[in-house]
Amino acid sequence: MHPLYQQMPTSIFEKMSLAAMEHGAVNLGQGFPDFGWPQAILDVAAEALLSQSNQYAPSRGLPVLRQAVADHYNRHHSLVLLPEQVCITAGATEAIAAAIFATIAPGDEVILFTPAYDAYAPLIRRAGGVVREVALQSPAWRIDGAVLREAITGKTRAIVINNPHNPTGRLFDRSELEAVAAVAVDHDLIVISDEVWEHLLLDGQQFTAMASLPAMADRTIKCGSAGKIFSLTGWKVGWLVASPALATLAARAHQFLTFSSPPNLQEAVAFGLNEGDDWLGPMRQSFAAARDRMAGALRAIGYCVQDSAATYFHCVDLEASGIRADDRTFADRAVVEAGIAVVPLSAFAEIDPPRGFIRLCFAKRDSTIDAGVAALERAA
Ligand code: GLN
Repeated sequence: MHPLYQQMPTSIFEKMSLAAMEHGAVNLGQGFPDFGWPQAILDVAAEALLSQSNQYAPSRGLPVLRQAVADHYNRHHSLVLLPEQVCITAGATEAIAAAIFATIAPGDEVILFTPAYDAYAPLIRRAGGVVREVALQSPAWRIDGAVLREAITGKTRAIVINNPHNPTGRLFDRSELEAVAAVAVDHDLIVISDEVWEHLLLDGQQFTAMASLPAMADRTIKCGSAGKIFSLTGWKVGWLVASPALATLAARAHQFLTFSSPPNLQEAVAFGLNEGDDWLGPMRQSFAAARDRMAGALRAIGYCVQDSAATYFHCVDLEASGIRADDRTFADRAVVEAGIAVVPLSAFAEIDPPRGFIRLCFAKRDSTIDAGVAALERAA
């Protein structure tokens, strides 16, 4: 096998969703909701497809959407963004790729807090960067500023942070974010802040945008996602937001990744963002109810489900649940033998990965949750 294959693994989401299809399993692996998207946004997209241009959008995005994204964050995060600071991408994964390709040169070191979303490390490596993992420890999964500082060298160029955090469902608190910001300022680092779960706060918490911390606006590239905001993950409409200089740099990388994304979907997302924020409360309530339904049912059958305050993921501690298999063995067996797809947490780290946890997506209607729990009972 060509050595590059090792650096470019099959994404765990692709692997588990294909396995779920093959075995007719309930899919609680890849994170996507099976209910809850706004019909009005679909109608605008359909109408725009039929009535407007279907040719390339401007590379940085339709002006109406760039303005809507800036307005949205100025309203929610007390930022003072101009549309020039927004670049629309093909989903947040492309925003992350553009941010990395724009800022990382061969030999640069990049800090990841593990478990870390599976796209970061392969992209950093293909940019010539070197991944430095800083492991978060179960069950608190807290960022420790002192441990972070120890990982910094003269070659460190950037820190990637995902807040709220996939896969643990944690919202990092202000002191953790301040610790990251202090290190970034002291060592003149870029922070790539993957904030796609920013609105999925299930217990009434306040979100702090990395760029809103003192001295961070000019060194932060924020990545956001319409797929997460409106439960339309297949649309692959996302964006990056940064200082004018960094946004321009990242937008140049974006030109050579996808160039642009579909204009009708951009139009519809702009409509959705401009509609106001009335949808947020009900969305949070329905995901919180789904979370509680799944956690309650799993705990009742002996699973040790860690608390989740944000995102749409639960982590389950296998050992504490009395299951002796490691996470990959459990996941591979569960999809074939019990008809349930889950994500093993060891897919989110390479050096000393956590091997005793699985991730479950709870953004599902009641019938999916109940079928998933019944299958997990068989898998135990
Ligand atoms: N963000 C989704 C998750 O964590 C997956 C995205 C993807 O499949 N690329 O499950």
